[in-house]
Amino acid sequence: MNFELTAEQLRIQQEAREFADQVIAPRSIEMDETAKFPLDIFKQIGEKGWLGIPFAKEYGGMGSDTLTYSIVAEEIGRASVSVGLSYVASISIGASPIAMYGTEEQKQRYLVPLAQGKELASFGLTEENAGSDAGGVETTAILDGDEYILNGVKRWITNSNYASVITVAAVTEQHANGRKRISSFIVPTNTPGVSVTSPYKKMGARASDTGEVVMKNVRIPKENLLGRANFGMKQFLTILNGGRISIAAISVGLAQAALDKALAHAKQRKQFGRPISDFQAVQFKLADMSMELELARNMLYKAAWLKDQGKPYIKECAYAKLFASETSFRSSNQALQILGGTGYMQEAEVERYLRDAKILEIGEGTSEIQRLVIARQLGC
Ligand SMILES: Cc1cc2nc3c(=O)[nH]c(=O)nc-3n(C[C@H](O)[C@H](O)[C@H](O)COP(=O)(O)OP(=O)(O)OC[C@H]3O[C@@H](n4cnc5c(N)ncnc54)[C@H](O)[C@@H]3O)c2cc1C
Repeated sequence: MNFELTAEQLRIQQEAREFADQVIAPRSIEMDETAKFPLDIFKQIGEKGWLGIPFAKEYGGMGSDTLTYSIVAEEIGRASVSVGLSYVASISIGASPIAMYGTEEQKQRYLVPLAQGKELASFGLTEENAGSDAGGVETTAILDGDEYILNGVKRWITNSNYASVITVAAVTEQHANGRKRISSFIVPTNTPGVSVTSPYKKMGARASDTGEVVMKNVRIPKENLLGRANFGMKQFLTILNGGRISIAAISVGLAQAALDKALAHAKQRKQFGRPISDFQAVQFKLADMSMELELARNMLYKAAWLKDQGKPYIKECAYAKLFASETSFRSSNQALQILGGTGYMQEAEVERYLRDAKILEIGEGTSEIQRLVIARQLGC
């Protein structure tokens, strides 16, 4: 068993760490306050090639692996969950469906600019009646000659105001007994009939763009069907299984940020004539945060490694997403407690960590759904 990262992984980790510290972190408070999507940061991330880490070189990507991608997502998430969420949404749920199920023509046309970092992608599954129960999708796609006509509303879609394409789930077969079959489609956002509302006002991850996508008689060529007709649900579930690694990576980054802040404060803040890090009650909190972070990171790296090895990874991805997201929430809360009143103030950033952490327990399958996934893997 080898717990060492490769020289190339260590190099990209260092580069991502410096970028996160020098470019993203100094803007994190302002991004949270203004809730403005940092397009310029994404331009730089794109130029570094990091929007294409897991995609093949022939499609403009770096041809690297899930572990390397996770390491970069972790560093970005450490500096800003907003940037992290939009980063992983474009790669793992926006562009990956095209990489996994697209035809050669679809990959050349849509994946290449995404992998090259020139454009961003979105993933459109959630609707008013389709949240945890993704099969509740009501958006329809009706074949009309050489085109599909799409009608429906997708809500809470990350990057939708900035994406060039959205991979959309829509009903392609509806039976009288209520059963339906779902397919996936590549929908360019500039197609007539597609409109995106202004971003929602959110509790956290405020600078990550989240919009509502309305599709009204949207006509797309039938060639934009992604993968096999009526197999969309299976595809989306596969994409979400892998996507959990991404949320785990951001969560590990955030838990690291919370520990770093809490430890630095505890060593410097004096009460009763000594640093509060001398008090066992504070030490125990820091010890637990550090141990849980180590466990979450190990779970993340193992899940990514399993995926890269082509081994079964569904249970391990759910473990990693569930444990890392809950760790990031607990650690942010403990960090705030260690910072006391200072932590309650915006400039200390820890209150933002706590607000940001909550989405990690909800997006790409809630904690309850992760437990259901694990239980199913156990044969329940
Ligand atoms: C900021 C943000 C960004 C997002 N980005 C995207 C995106 O880019 N694309 C996209 O398609 N979606 C996106 N989503 C949607 C997200 O994936 C859903 O919010 C999530 O899957 C949960 O669905 P829901 O919010 O409708 O909750 P619900 O499904 O209504 O669940 C409510 C509660 O009931 C629980 N629950 C539901 N069913 C069960 C069950 N069977 N057993 C036990 N408990 C259950 C849930 O765990 C939860 O606690 C985003 C959401 C947010 C907030």
